[in-house]
Amino acid sequence: MAKVFVIDWKMCVGCYDCQVGCKDEHCDNCWPPYAEAQPLVGQFWCKVDQYERGRRPHVKVTYLPRICQHCDNAPCIEAAPDAVYKRDDGLVIIDPDKAKGNKKIVESCPYHVIYWNEELQLPQKCTGCAHLLDGGHPICVPRCVDNCHVDAILFGEESEFDLSDCEVMHPEYGTQPRVYYKGGLPKKFVAGTVYDPEAEEVYIGAAVRLEGEAGTFSTTTDSWGDFWLRDLPDADFTLTIEAAGKTKSLPVSTKTEDVGLGDIALI
Ligand code: SF4
Ligand code: SF4
Repeated sequence: MAKVFVIDWKMCVGCYDCQVGCKDEHCDNCWPPYAEAQPLVGQFWCKVDQYERGRRPHVKVTYLPRICQHCDNAPCIEAAPDAVYKRDDGLVIIDPDKAKGNKKIVESCPYHVIYWNEELQLPQKCTGCAHLLDGGHPICVPRCVDNCHVDAILFGEESEFDLSDCEVMHPEYGTQPRVYYKGGLPKKFVAGTVYDPEAEEVYIGAAVRLEGEAGTFSTTTDSWGDFWLRDLPDADFTLTIEAAGKTKSLPVSTKTEDVGLGDIALI
């Protein structure tokens, strides 16, 4: 039965234990027939990307664990079918003997998760810790999964999970990844603080509306005058704020980044 990884990035606290566990499992350790040792530096078969989003004081730090996507339609297998293969459980493995000297395997991956080991002349990547899965080992899940103390990375039979609210990374590549992101991948936000410059007070309960071709999203300011509009599509919008008979409109765009507007005077 084919297995999947399910990653809930909203649960991730950025402790990097999965990344460290991967290093501990694979550095200085060969796991034939699946992998030669991972170098101490320069390779991260499990990598936690950290993003600082927005602008002070409206900032969010997001952590996104990334591994090989163990694609069902894998370009790396297409590039070297004699050296890269898919196991029955869905894991994609680069055969360390057959792939020696074949650098084009590195370039084949659109997710850029294959590294080149110059010393061994070998392409290397996450094996899903296949050696732990079929070796009768007490840890019968990948090491990153075992190391995560908040269960932000799970691994198991596809049928065990409800994948209905999940997204895969870059579905437009057509690679059919077996790594699912629970609740979807991070989406953009627009945030700000609305205040009355004459009264030198924030507006509590001001109506905030974001309108554009991608839809309408609305909220109200909280007790600190703050508003957060989350999980937005990448698009151009008009932001309208209304309170105490006053209205303000301004253009905002989430096409390239999250938007922290800072203090907004409503005159
Ligand atoms: Fe191959 Fe890259 Fe897909 Fe992993 S993510 S299976 S290395 S194409
Ligand atoms: Fe996030 Fe879990 Fe990795 Fe820590 S171990 S960085 S919580 S996924």
